[in-house]
Order: sequence, then structure tokens, then C-alpha cells
Amino acid sequence: MGKCKYCGKSAGLFRNEHKECEAEHNLRVYGALNEVIAAIKGAKSFGVISILSFGPL
Ligand SMILES: [Zn+2]
Repeated sequence: MGKCKYCGKSAGLFRNEHKECEAEHNLRVYGALNEVIAAIKGAKSFGVISILSFGPL
């Protein structure tokens, strides 16, 4: 029985994650990416600081 790598609960046979948990994770990753892109574009120079405190993805 596999455990969800995102929430740690049982994800069922041959599975390592829930679809919902993965989707939420992706949303967070893409949200962080959007902040990076915005910071690079110079839209908000303060975004860089929040990214640094975000830690490794
Ligand atoms: Zn899960």
C-alpha cells in the first residue's frame, strides 16, 4: 500500500500520491514560479525576498 508523499495518508495500491494533493502541490509550485517570473520582470522587486524565505521547493 502506498502512502501519499504529500499528506502521508494511504493513497491506495501502486500509488504514491492523491490526485488532489498533487494538484494542490502543483498550484503552490506554479504560484511560486509566477512570483519568480514577476520578480524577474521587475514587476515587484520585493518578491525576491519572499522567494528566498520560501525555501527549497
Ligand atoms: Zn494526499
